[in-house]
Amino acid sequence: MIKRNILLNPGPATTTDTVKMAQVVPDICPREREFADLMAGIRRDLLRVAHADADKYTSVLFCGSGTINIDVCLNSLLPEGKKALILDNGAYSARAAEVCRYYHLPHIDLKMSVYEPVDMELYRRTIEENTDIAIVYVTHHETGTGILNPIREIGRIAHENGAIMVADTTSSLGMIPLDLRTDNVDFCMASAQKGLMAMTGLSFIIGRKDIIEASKDYPTRSYYCNLWLQYDYFERTGEMHFTPPVQTAYALRQAIDEYFSEGEQEKFARHRRVFEAISEGVANLGLKEAVKPEFRSGLVVSVRYPDCQEWDFGKVHDYLYERGFTIYPGKIDGADTFRLCALGAIDMPDIEAFFRTLKEAFIHFGIKTVNDEA
Ligand SMILES: *Cc1c(COP(=O)(O)O)cnc(C)c1O
Repeated sequence: MIKRNILLNPGPATTTDTVKMAQVVPDICPREREFADLMAGIRRDLLRVAHADADKYTSVLFCGSGTINIDVCLNSLLPEGKKALILDNGAYSARAAEVCRYYHLPHIDLKMSVYEPVDMELYRRTIEENTDIAIVYVTHHETGTGILNPIREIGRIAHENGAIMVADTTSSLGMIPLDLRTDNVDFCMASAQKGLMAMTGLSFIIGRKDIIEASKDYPTRSYYCNLWLQYDYFERTGEMHFTPPVQTAYALRQAIDEYFSEGEQEKFARHRRVFEAISEGVANLGLKEAVKPEFRSGLVVSVRYPDCQEWDFGKVHDYLYERGFTIYPGKIDGADTFRLCALGAIDMPDIEAFFRTLKEAFIHFGIKTVNDEA
């Protein structure tokens, strides 16, 4: 028995015991055929998760957290003399703009409100006025707020203007159905520990083979994080260029099997009901959400701090943590929020238990909300 913690932070997520235990395997050198077969199966099945056609798309794994994918896509896929357009409406797209700055990549950091999805008019105008944009980059689900961006429409406009579309789907893939055949996405990405409910340390990009092949001749800005180099090595040898996170790969194998046995639609529905239960629990306690209902992703609830002297995020966090529940600070500049996320292997009883404990914490610390004043 492993102690079960309910993680309501935005990843890593609560995992099943079978995924945890899948890491305990006999020692193996990852250059063995057996391990290459495991990697080949994972790469193939990741395409299935994104409904990507194996003739057109490939998946490339990297050893690192999800941010490595942002780094890899931006540093590898920008041709000479072209620009990236970062649709920046939250903390994670701001990170992509920061990657551009660190590599000195020509880019436009199109800053927009963090409380709303991408401003489509502003986006359209910007891409039409700047004919040298080769990459449109967007965060599908802005985990910092819980806002969902309309990737299909964004991708369509990118393609109309001769640009490729890179979507950070780290906190949506495997939770909100994505279909690369129809969603106008050329590259998407995630890390093993989020939607697929596996372990940290392994990330992957799913994208168009022809574009990766073309990028072979683009300026190179990184060695360890070059997409073509890693792809080419995988294609020639079946292995990662350098040492992979071996045990993490076994856990991912197990997690992918569990993903398909739960079923895409069933899993989507489970996250949705957990999200709704969180929203309802928040409202019942008299707390307010930071994002308007029509913009909510169905995965992250951004909660405003209650307007009460006794409120102290740290104290409430610690009270919950000691009882097996993890809550997480917000990521909205200038607003005091915390986040409750519907990721991971959790369901209704976990949320009910969470709100019983949160209510207890409020009573314990004398925290009052609008409901108590009514
Ligand atoms: C979690 C996450 C990432 C990756 O963050 P890491 O700190 O590298 O794990 C990237 N984009 C989004 C949208 C995320 O939610």
